[in-house]
Amino acid sequence: MDFALSKEQQDIVRAAREFAEGEFSDVAQEFDRTETFDLGLWKKACDLGFVGVFIDEEYGGAGYGFLEHCLINEEFWAVDPGIGEAILSTTFGSELISLFGSEDQKRLILPALVSGEAIIGTAITEPDAGSDVTRAATTAVREGDEWVINGSKMFSTNGTLATYMLIFCLTDPDSPSRHARHSFILVPTETQGYEATKIRGKLGIRASDTAEISLKDVRVPAGNLVGRRGEGFKELMAFFNCTRLHICAQAVGLARAALQDSIRYTRQREQFGAPLASFQVTQFKIAEMATLIRAARNLYYEAAWSVDQGRVDQALIAMAKWFSAQMAVSCADEALQMHGGYGYIDEYRVQRLYRDAKILEIYEGTKEIEKTIIARTLLRQ
Ligand SMILES: Cc1cc2nc3c(=O)[nH]c(=O)nc-3n(C[C@H](O)[C@H](O)[C@H](O)COP(=O)(O)OP(=O)(O)OC[C@H]3O[C@@H](n4cnc5c(N)ncnc54)[C@H](O)[C@@H]3O)c2cc1C
Repeated sequence: MDFALSKEQQDIVRAAREFAEGEFSDVAQEFDRTETFDLGLWKKACDLGFVGVFIDEEYGGAGYGFLEHCLINEEFWAVDPGIGEAILSTTFGSELISLFGSEDQKRLILPALVSGEAIIGTAITEPDAGSDVTRAATTAVREGDEWVINGSKMFSTNGTLATYMLIFCLTDPDSPSRHARHSFILVPTETQGYEATKIRGKLGIRASDTAEISLKDVRVPAGNLVGRRGEGFKELMAFFNCTRLHICAQAVGLARAALQDSIRYTRQREQFGAPLASFQVTQFKIAEMATLIRAARNLYYEAAWSVDQGRVDQALIAMAKWFSAQMAVSCADEALQMHGGYGYIDEYRVQRLYRDAKILEIYEGTKEIEKTIIARTLLRQ
């Protein structure tokens, strides 16, 4: 297998890096402090073709693979994770539409996501259903030609900004298998009964919108079912096989930023009459970080490349997600440590990286769930 980046992929990396370096640095601290984001930056990213590159050309995308989307994610997160998440999560759900949506749904939604006219989110998690998604209790009941949805969702990315939300609903509660009870239903967020409340006070990625959603007698046409009735769980697993790749790339980007800040700071900061970088203990930390980053990147390149070749390896994806997230948390921790007390105040980016890193071990499957997937696959073989 050959994972070397093509010339085109290298150009994508260069362009994404230039954009992020030019646009994010000056505003990152303010967005973090105020938990806000300027949607103008997302529009700009859309105009420059960074959003939804994996979407087929016939639906307005660039027709690239997930690897290219990962490369952009890595570069954006290498400058600021919060802004990277705010921009690139605007297509979170397009993968489900691409994989399982009807032709009408694809034509309605996908081009609008790429051009910056619409934002999508996917709401699975509920107050009582996190890692165990089969406990999701938001109901969707068929009444004539409509679905009537009632329930609440927790931690939905883009909840207050999205044009469309894909809601993971309990449609077939009597099915004997808990894996055949749910379905995805597309809800335009302007529909009566949809209410999103922004969750404030997040530890990290504070530029990204996270919300609690209440759904009270939300009525949408029967045709808003995405995929097949009762197959929502299986579709969700296929969705995660694509979206977990993005998390790996985010982790590598964040860890790169941590390494970059560590090198810069330890070269310049002197103690005991010498730069911190001259101490072997610092050098070992730098060496370990650089090696871990490279290992994580190779793992996600392989995982993304395999998916793009149509060879989905769920255990490999879980390995890449678990390893890269843990690697990023550990790199951010060591980077802050190398900054001493200065790392603890928000004047330096490193404290933001330290806070931003933790989400990588939580969303889209906690580290425990990823390890469970890996072990189950191996023990089943
Ligand atoms: C910023 C942010 C953005 C998010 N965006 C979205 C989104 O867009 N859409 C969405 O649907 N959700 C989203 N989430 C939710 C996220 O996916 C969940 O928080 C995550 O899946 C964990 O669920 P939980 O928080 O309920 O924790 P729980 O499932 O209650 O887990 C708590 C702890 O118990 C552990 N645990 C649980 N079960 C087991 C087990 N069987 N074995 C061992 N350990 C176990 C977990 O690993 C974890 O450490 C987001 C969350 C955050 C914080």
